[in-house]
Amino acid sequence: MKILLVYAHPEADSFNGALRDITVKTLTELGHEVKVSDLYAMQFDPVSSRRNFTTVKNPDFLKLQFEEMHATEHEGFAPDVASEIAKLKWADLMIWQFPLWWFSVPAILKGWVDRVFAMGSVYGYGHMYEDGMLRGKRALLSVTTGAGADAYKPDGSNGDINAVLRPIQRGMLEFVGFEVLRPQIYYSASKVDQTQRQAWLQEWATRLADLEAETPVGAGRY
Ligand code: FAD
Repeated sequence: MKILLVYAHPEADSFNGALRDITVKTLTELGHEVKVSDLYAMQFDPVSSRRNFTTVKNPDFLKLQFEEMHATEHEGFAPDVASEIAKLKWADLMIWQFPLWWFSVPAILKGWVDRVFAMGSVYGYGHMYEDGMLRGKRALLSVTTGAGADAYKPDGSNGDINAVLRPIQRGMLEFVGFEVLRPQIYYSASKVDQTQRQAWLQEWATRLADLEAETPVGAGRY
């Protein structure tokens, strides 16, 4: 498989960093082709603006989606956006490795989506969800949390983890056509002991070995 790992953590020695490393090592050893977008290391600019484009459709009024469609037709994306769109189109499977921040992805990853999930290239009129332009590809979230598993039960203080992740899995990934695999979640990643974290790394490596055989679970509807 061709696999794109999008990694969003500012500290290389974090547990997220360890998960990134074992993901790359395991998948490479299994013979998969792996590309990594390490957003902090790349200093990826998460702010969507005219800098997304080298072309201009309307210089007087910035309507991002119209500029995205125009850029799609005229190869007018800025190099940092164009290269990420190319990786998306290349990949059979995309994995996101990130810590849950404010019930969502870190801002740098949200900004990556804002700029890279471009209308005309990744989705479009009549090309959403099952007809999204990235249909046929699969996506998988690998997420660490601060709070414990009990907090993310349906009656827990933070609410059902599936509901917390739905804006990401439904509103971003399924929206553009990805089929979503079961998310891999590490609750209380900083608070558990080293033995537990090492066991998680091993479980993750074991799961990666069988990913091709997995059936998508879907994000569920609102
Ligand atoms: P780290 O603290 O970096 O790592 C944990 C431990 O793992 C460290 O001791 C590290 O040394 C160790 N480690 C590193 N490598 C290895 C290895 N190879 N083997 C074993 N151990 C290793 N939490 C929520 O639940 N909900 C929220 O909405 C939320 N919002 C947040 C918003 C912000 C802005 C921030 C900063 C945090 C938020 N948190 C939230 C908490 C956050 O999700 C957790 O702090 C994060 O998920 C922990 O993962 P980490 O990789 O950063 O852990």
